Formats: sequence, C-alpha cells, structure tokens
Amino acid sequence: MKKRIVLLPGDGIGKEVIHSAKDVLQAIAEEYNHSFCFETHEIGGAAIDLYGTPLPETTVDACKQADAVLLGAVGGPKWDNNPSHLRPEKGLLGIRKALDLFANLRPIKGFKNLLHASPLKEEVVSGSDLLIVRELTGGLYFGTPSERRDNGNTVVDTLSYTRKEIERIVDKGFQAAQQRRGHLTSVDKANVLESSKLWREVVEEKKAQYPDVAVEHVLVDAAAMKLITNPTHFDVIVTENLFGDILSDEASVLTGSLGMLPSASLREDGLGLYEPVHGSAPDIAGKGVANPVAMILSAALMLRYSFQLEDEAKVIEDAVQSILDTGFHTGDLQVANGRLVGTAEMTKLIVDYI
Ligand code: ATP
Ligand code: MG
Repeated sequence: MKKRIVLLPGDGIGKEVIHSAKDVLQAIAEEYNHSFCFETHEIGGAAIDLYGTPLPETTVDACKQADAVLLGAVGGPKWDNNPSHLRPEKGLLGIRKALDLFANLRPIKGFKNLLHASPLKEEVVSGSDLLIVRELTGGLYFGTPSERRDNGNTVVDTLSYTRKEIERIVDKGFQAAQQRRGHLTSVDKANVLESSKLWREVVEEKKAQYPDVAVEHVLVDAAAMKLITNPTHFDVIVTENLFGDILSDEASVLTGSLGMLPSASLREDGLGLYEPVHGSAPDIAGKGVANPVAMILSAALMLRYSFQLEDEAKVIEDAVQSILDTGFHTGDLQVANGRLVGTAEMTKLIVDYI
C-alpha cells in the first residue's frame, strides 16, 4: 500500500514525539511492505515564527492532498500574549475546519500496570476499554452567539444540528461499534433538548442498518456518572460536540496518564488528522523525556481508520502494551520497580518489538 502522510510537528514536545511516530510507521512499512512517504509542514507557533501565521496556505494545501495527517501539539508560553489571530491554537482549529473533520474519536484503555495512577479504585477501572465518538463541527460551539442585550446582561448561544450532520456522526459510531465489541451508547439530553430529540430519532432509524450492534440511549448526566462508577459498561459512546468535549476529558482521567492517550479526527471520506490528547508540555520540551506513546498510538489509529490496516494497527498497540508490561516507562508514569527511559529509548524499544 502506498500512502502520503503529512507530518505537522507543531511546538514543544510535538517536535520530539512526531519523530517517534515516523520511526514506528517506517518499521511497519518495512515489515509489511508498504510505502509511506512523509512530508513535513509547519503549524502553530513554529509557523507564526517562520511565516507570520499559525496556519500557512502551504500547510493547508499539503494536508488536503495527503492521505492522512499526523500532528504533534501546538502552543507555548512564547505566544501566550499574541493577539488572538496570532495564537498557535488558531492553527489547530483552522486545519480541523479546512479539512471538515467532523468526527473526533478518542479511545481510552487502561494499561495493566498503570492502573494505580488512576484517581479511581483499581477494581473499578480495571478492564475499561472504551471509545468516545464526538461530533466536532456543529452544535453550541459553532452557533452564532447573539449580541449582548439588556445592557450586556443577557446573551444567547444557539445549539443547532441538521439531520444530515447527525446521521454522519451516528454512522461513524455504529461503524466503530461493529469493529469493536458491538455495543453503542448514544448520549443525549432528549428529555429537555429539541436537538437531542432529533438525535435520538436518527439513532433509532439507523438501528436497522446495523443489526449486529446493540444500542442504548443514556442521558448525559447519567452517562457522566456511569463513566466513573462503572466504566467497563461502555464500548462505544457517540454524542454531540459539547457533551463529547466534557465526557472525553472526564474519561481521559480513568487511566490516569495524559501521555498515553491518542485521538483521531475524521472527514466523511476517511481522511484523518491524528494527534495525541496532550498539549505541547512546555515544562519538559527539549529535554528528551516526553512520553511518545500517545503520538505512537495516534499513528496506529491512522492505520486503522484512514488506511484500514487493522493488523498493523494492532501490532503497534501490542508493542506498546508489551514494552509497558516489561516495566519500561517515561518520567510521567509511576511504575513500581520499573525502568525509567527517555523519548528516544522508549521509541526504540517499540520499534525493535515491531
Ligand atoms: P494545552 O493547553 O496545549 O492542552 P496543557 O498545558 O493543558 O496544554 P499539556 O501541555 O498536555 O497540557 O501538559 C500538562 C502536563 O502534562 C505538563 O506538566 C506536561 O509536562 C505533562 N505532559 C503532557 N504530555 C506529556 C507527555 N507526552 N509526556 C510527559 N509528560 C506530559
Ligand atoms: Mg489543555
């Protein structure tokens, strides 16, 4: 298989962990006879410094022509006081919009010997393995806010969804459930919100197309509670933008380690942007100690969701699991009797396993 991959290192530890992902993908290419060709472009603070904009046209064009995009992280204190159009984060929002990435996927899985790092009891989180599918380009975050009225004391945000917008994200949820354990939880607030009533209607209609998937509807408040009292209940959760934003941050603490979580943002045709959930970590940038696992697992998601290379994705995930089981870990993880390694060494261990 021949694929073009755009690398957007961005800022801070993004510049370090992106190399780890590339090394791992090259190992996969060799092992499985694929041809991955890489092209690197600037985004975020790095792009501001070089081109005076967080998202240069050349970056957008390259991403549009690619088969998939891997992004490190953007931002850092250097640009914190910039005017809003010259903030690194604008580059990230801009590229998501330019590529029409409407589906955000976040898998959350507890790694055996790291469960003690969770704020929850080990017996509660043990075995949790879920995927949140969040709508990313509609809802409250994209409604036009009203002018302030009533001497600035009243304001309105609008939550709007079309049937088509709901259908395409619900389809992604069902399809993800088919590839996993066949269980889909649709999260809404249908007892109160009109948008949620339409959401629930669409899910009910779609059910017939996916007879192999068991579906349940859960109200968002109940889902928030269940996520921490009984996380193993869930396989795939599909939900709208705001609910998904909140629930995915909540779920990310289940495993207790930010440096471990990957994410995917997809367009309808499968083009995707893959990035770690963590940020640019300015406090440890340039020291060679960042945990590359979230970035490496993001590359695995790319193989799974943009290229349909499930076996290759699994090999990467198994490699990560196995190296962690052996006790190797970066400084962000506390492992009893473990062996502390840096970014490069962790990457090499995973590459060698592959
Ligand atoms: P952003 O605003 O970009 O989300 P943030 O400040 O909220 O950034 P991070 O940049 O992710 O969050 O950093 C939060 C903390 O977690 C920092 O102390 C950072 O060093 C640590 N951290 C984040 N990612 C990693 C990683 N891959 N390896 C090690 N430590 C990490
Ligand atoms: Mg943050």
